[in-house]
Amino acid sequence: MVSIKDVHKSFGDLKVLNGVSLDVMKGDVICIIGPSGSGKSTLIRCVNALNDIQQGSILVEGQEVNDPRLDKLELRKKVGMVFQQYNLFPHKTALQNVMMAPVRVLKQDKAKAEATARALLKRVRLENKENAYPGELSGGQQQRVAIARSLAMNPDVILFDEVTAALDPETVGEVLQTIKDLAEDGMTCILVTHEMAFAREVADHIYFTDRGVIVEHGPPATFFKNAEDPRTREFLSQIL
Ligand code: ATP
Ligand code: MG
Repeated sequence: MVSIKDVHKSFGDLKVLNGVSLDVMKGDVICIIGPSGSGKSTLIRCVNALNDIQQGSILVEGQEVNDPRLDKLELRKKVGMVFQQYNLFPHKTALQNVMMAPVRVLKQDKAKAEATARALLKRVRLENKENAYPGELSGGQQQRVAIARSLAMNPDVILFDEVTAALDPETVGEVLQTIKDLAEDGMTCILVTHEMAFAREVADHIYFTDRGVIVEHGPPATFFKNAEDPRTREFLSQIL
């Protein structure tokens, strides 16, 4: 589904990714963890071509993301992304936010897009908030609208970049539950997160990055129990 091979990325003189490789199969949930500045956001932004790369290869469904001929809009239909800041349109209701891209980008007819948007708001447990504006919703509710909006494009994979980091503690759980529901429904997810209990419970595979390389990776059971590299151990001891 997503195959990242030996990716190198610099911003000017700053080397941010130094040969990162990882593979994500259909239906997988992978979590990327690591210290601030280790290149986690940069890496997932490369997957939907928000960042370019200088060396290596990223295939999404067999298509090379780094190909200059690539249609980025087509790529982003396949690769959804949810950010820490939900970036909803403030003057549109929850329902309008979710149906906007399908109508404008996919050229769906309005009635169909609206029916889909309703179903998606139900899926993220916000069926009673269809007509609310973002300013009338809690952070966790806004983030769930953002997730529904991403789902509305029917992506093959969704990238989540610390989507609970800006939330009040009491709303973090509802957003994590929403992601967990998606994962259980078989959605392919690549998550950057600091929520270790969540990663342990939901991830099929965990990758620990430091200074632009993957230092260690494995399924949660072995990763958390048998981390070998001193950098991983140090990080886990601070965060757990
Ligand atoms: P955090 O946990 O704080 O979100 P991160 O692991 O996501 O950190 P990145 O955002 O990928 O880290 O940043 C990695 C490095 O690249 C940092 O040193 C950052 O300052 C730098 N960087 C990121 N984006 C840019 C940019 N557009 N231009 C220049 N430098 C950048
Ligand atoms: Mg980041």
